[in-house]
Amino acid sequence: MALIVQKYGGTSVGSPDRIKNVARRVAKFKALGNQVVVVVSAMSGETNRLVALAHEIQKHPDPRELDVIISTGEQVTIGLLSMALKEHGVKAKSYTGAQVKILTDSAHTKARIVSIDEQNIMGDLEKDCVVVVAGFQGVDEHGNITTLGRGGSDTTGVAIAAALRADECQIYTDVDGVYTTDPRVVPEARRLKSITFEEMLEMSSMGSKVLQLRSVEFAGKYKVKLRVLSSFEEEGEGTLITVEDNDKMEQAIISGIAFNRDEAKITVMGVPDKPGIAYQILGPVSDANIDVDIIIQNVGEDGATDFSFTVHRNEYAKAMDILKSKVQPHIGAREVIGDSRAAKVSVVGVGMRSHVGIASKMFRTLAEEGINIQMISTSEIKISVVIDEKYLELAVRVLHKAFGLDQEEA
Ligand code: ASP
Ligand code: MG
Repeated sequence: MALIVQKYGGTSVGSPDRIKNVARRVAKFKALGNQVVVVVSAMSGETNRLVALAHEIQKHPDPRELDVIISTGEQVTIGLLSMALKEHGVKAKSYTGAQVKILTDSAHTKARIVSIDEQNIMGDLEKDCVVVVAGFQGVDEHGNITTLGRGGSDTTGVAIAAALRADECQIYTDVDGVYTTDPRVVPEARRLKSITFEEMLEMSSMGSKVLQLRSVEFAGKYKVKLRVLSSFEEEGEGTLITVEDNDKMEQAIISGIAFNRDEAKITVMGVPDKPGIAYQILGPVSDANIDVDIIIQNVGEDGATDFSFTVHRNEYAKAMDILKSKVQPHIGAREVIGDSRAAKVSVVGVGMRSHVGIASKMFRTLAEEGINIQMISTSEIKISVVIDEKYLELAVRVLHKAFGLDQEEA
């Protein structure tokens, strides 16, 4: 007998028929002798609808009240699914986050889980009950309802699996796993049988569409066996997200090609080459809550250097404005230039730790297509380049092929 946490996303519970389908699957799983805890999202579109509703009353909704509103979507689905399970003759009981007692901090709309009281759930499981828990929500120490950030039901699922020491946390969604890259860009993309937590985090541009990244961090930290599966297919083992397996010789060196279209590049030219400059450039940018990704500073020459970094395209104009109006006159830089049409492509794989030549292969492949590399950044298991957005698809395709990720033709 195994203890399994299954999480079903919004599309999987998007209509009464789909909820009945989930109930049928859960009932089948239960009949095999497993203990099952089900975590559900709100029906698809519901959270957006609730957010929009709140915005019709207040331009900047009060965070505490917003959480009261947007947590209701999940309360509906736990009730509906529990009823559907009972229709299958399965004992079931629903719990809101507060009823379980999923204790969080008080950071409304982006709260973090502090602890989970597993007693009620365990008691019900022992009574042969399927426990249905509302995702995305918790309660703070003062009894306020909190939510965990958009996509937060994944984190609820993983956190409950960790608290119950479940054998596996299965995330059912509308895709059948994690792919080597976006199949819309590369039709030859393959589903990965497994991927490590670290790779999954580095693949964030694709990974985050499948799982809330915080849930992956959580699973890595608490060593929860995490699997992504399709809720629409009866068979299929999905993708297992797991710790690195050093014994696995046949493990691919590269797991995937991630990319991000919405980058913008900014260069501050001719900045004085002296201590404190990076801080004086990026301090005001971060004070404006603008995330900076790749940062490059050149070697200085004649006491001056160039300083480049990337930001999300949506924040490009704001960042340029801050740099031109505040930073440039303050530090005495020559010029601020930028390009809002940049894109980032990354090659990701834990195999990089033990293999050389990945970077040169990547650069050669891009050179052969005449694609100019504007910036490079590396981590232990990832190499990213910034290129002109118009070559993005081409770059992803040729790299996918060069690293042997294309699906073999049947
Ligand atoms: N319903 C919430 C959202 O749409 C949480 C989730 O689906 O994971 O973000
Ligand atoms: Mg989701």
